[in-house]
Amino acid sequence: MKRSNVAIFVPHKGCPNQCTFCNQNEITGCTSNVTKEDVISAVETSLYSGGYSKESEIAFFGGSFTGIDPEYMEMLLQAAYQYVSQGLFKGIRISTRPDYINQEILDTLKKYGVTSIELGAQSMDDEVLKANKRGHSAQNVVEACELIKQNGFSLGLQMMTGLYKSDEKKDIYTAQQLSLLQPDTMRIYPTIVLKYTELAILCLTGKYYPQSLEEAVNLCAKLLDFFDNMNIKVIRLGLHDSPSLKKEYIAGPYHPAFRELCESKLFVDKFLNEVKNERYTSYVAEVNPSYLSKALGQKKANIECLRDSGYDVRIIQNQQIQDGKFKLTPIE
Ligand code: SF4
Repeated sequence: MKRSNVAIFVPHKGCPNQCTFCNQNEITGCTSNVTKEDVISAVETSLYSGGYSKESEIAFFGGSFTGIDPEYMEMLLQAAYQYVSQGLFKGIRISTRPDYINQEILDTLKKYGVTSIELGAQSMDDEVLKANKRGHSAQNVVEACELIKQNGFSLGLQMMTGLYKSDEKKDIYTAQQLSLLQPDTMRIYPTIVLKYTELAILCLTGKYYPQSLEEAVNLCAKLLDFFDNMNIKVIRLGLHDSPSLKKEYIAGPYHPAFRELCESKLFVDKFLNEVKNERYTSYVAEVNPSYLSKALGQKKANIECLRDSGYDVRIIQNQQIQDGKFKLTPIE
């Protein structure tokens, strides 16, 4: 059985902002207040079902966790910490905004066994941050990350692509700037337009055009490769599938298998890069069995795509090849 974290969503609590793209309650699919009983119930369900290990974390996601009422925050943390202090979980993970981090908050988080902090940076371009009403600057992101690392927490960062007033160049710049902050993990979310958001109005009035799925896949494949080369793990690419997301979706590059599309695109990009100075046009590509479907692409789209680029490629499995890599042999 897969051992995973216990995820508890704390929607929009205490968040005074209304970012252009955010309809937090809809994304999390949860609109009521989380109570300490909810935390206990989620953790105990996980304990009894065996769907956890001592390496799992209890994760508070979905809002600006350190921006909620301090007493309420401590109550939720306390409910989770009893399981961490018994050694049943590795620690607690929270997500929050860069401007809701200071030494006092970090001291409280430490007291309750928080080990990982994820910051929603979204962009490192101040104009984009302002246009999307984020209410913080790129410098706030830098300062919060430095403080989090100085205090010994694991650091996760989230960025969005295709935001209002952003473009591919700015998104790549954001990825470069975030990598300099040396996060342990990254999450990348292409911007999706949801109902009841300012972005929806901008979209419906022709002031904002979301990325197409193809544009988002092309860009996110590059970002995935970039972070991989920097040894930064991308733990999420694209929004989770959920009934409420489907219900509130208006436009934008949503796909339930978004990451797989990016990994497939990356295979094509890497292949073309590797053969660009070669004289051969036919190859056998050996890949690990777990990479086969990504190398082939959905409905073998990569074979078609490479054929359109002038290459005849046969993809075969080889257990000896590292997952995500491939070995090419030209066919004379
Ligand atoms: S800060 Fe986070 S929770 Fe608040 S409006 Fe923006 S995205 Fe939504």
